[in-house]
Amino acid sequence: MAIREVFKFEDPQLHRKCHDVTNFDDRLANLLTDMADTMYEQNGVGLAAPQVGIIRRACVVDVGEGLYEFINPVITYKSEDLIEEDEGCLSFPGEWGKVKRPQKIKVEFFDRFGKKQELEAEDLFARAICHETDHLNGTVFKDIATRMLTQEEIDEKFSDEIEEEN
Ligand code: ZN
Repeated sequence: MAIREVFKFEDPQLHRKCHDVTNFDDRLANLLTDMADTMYEQNGVGLAAPQVGIIRRACVVDVGEGLYEFINPVITYKSEDLIEEDEGCLSFPGEWGKVKRPQKIKVEFFDRFGKKQELEAEDLFARAICHETDHLNGTVFKDIATRMLTQEEIDEKFSDEIEEEN
């Protein structure tokens, strides 16, 4: 296991369209394991390969329901009802935006062994999968946010933690 460096802010790697994964080999398995380790170490709920400088269509998600690995994911259904929530990203520490995402999605993908899978996701899980698949197309949440939160709003958002410290 290894923690990888997360590319941040204006790094051009974050705006590249990723290539499909074609080899389901040990190198891919190591990448996925490192990505999960890096995500957990940074208290994230998702991480995409381009965030660690690998321009391949692979991402990991864990919103508290266990670790999911998505290789060559394709979102095949998005519900019409959208939910707007605050969203952040390990590549943009300290920044938050209001982002509208479908309440429910279906996604087709491959697992690390090259087996095709499909699942339905709702709410935060759906949001995280959408956020990570966007990364694979070179899109970051700031590109599609309705608006970014002000520093005052961010302070308010984390005021519970500040109160605990006082
Ligand atoms: Zn992100």
